[in-house]
Amino acid sequence: MVTLALTKGRILRESLPILREAGICPVGDVFSSRKLMFATNIQHLRLLILRGVDVPTYVQFGAADLGITGKDQLLEHGGQGYYEPLDLKIATCRLMTAVLPNVEVRFDRTVVATKYINVARKFYAGLGRQTELIKLYGAMELAPLLDLSDEIVDIVDTGNTLAAHGLVAQKLIANISSRLIVNKLAMKGNFTVVNEIINSIRNVLGSDYEAN
Ligand code: AMP
Repeated sequence: MVTLALTKGRILRESLPILREAGICPVGDVFSSRKLMFATNIQHLRLLILRGVDVPTYVQFGAADLGITGKDQLLEHGGQGYYEPLDLKIATCRLMTAVLPNVEVRFDRTVVATKYINVARKFYAGLGRQTELIKLYGAMELAPLLDLSDEIVDIVDTGNTLAAHGLVAQKLIANISSRLIVNKLAMKGNFTVVNEIINSIRNVLGSDYEAN
């Protein structure tokens, strides 16, 4: 049995059409069901519906052989235990810093609120800036408004969420899209089946989708 972990929400909506075109169809309604595991039309392939943050962990430890999740989650996770063969170029957005306008940058010790603690640590260290990082699980936009932090690191798509809170995007940390990841051992042990799945998705996407 081969297990493919998908990310619920926007990534699921945008990846299912690609999977269908690749000949992979879930049995049952993945959007309305409370189930987290689905059989597919392929007897030896099942799907998991997870939160994006958990997909790299399932794939790293081999609980899932393959996964589809955002590059933001892979950057935060660190990338151990899996390959990243394909960039699906869906659910695109940017990982950015954001601030309240007209607030002076504090170079002594900036307080940064984010759910991307590892990404933020690396990014600010690269700028040579001292930070205190505050881990949040959502609603990062509130943190500067309530003096919890000076800056945030968050996902920006249209910028509407930032604008609605009077924040402005500042520095681009990474352009984000969804990636196919594959457990390193599964790639060797289950080579034929796993490769068939990768190739069927690759054939739908075309030649321009190798991850870099
Ligand atoms: P926007 O208001 O369009 O800039 O969207 C920003 C909000 O939507 C952020 O708070 C994110 O949590 C979420 N978001 C938008 N696009 C994505 C994506 N591709 N992956 C994960 N979250 C996203």
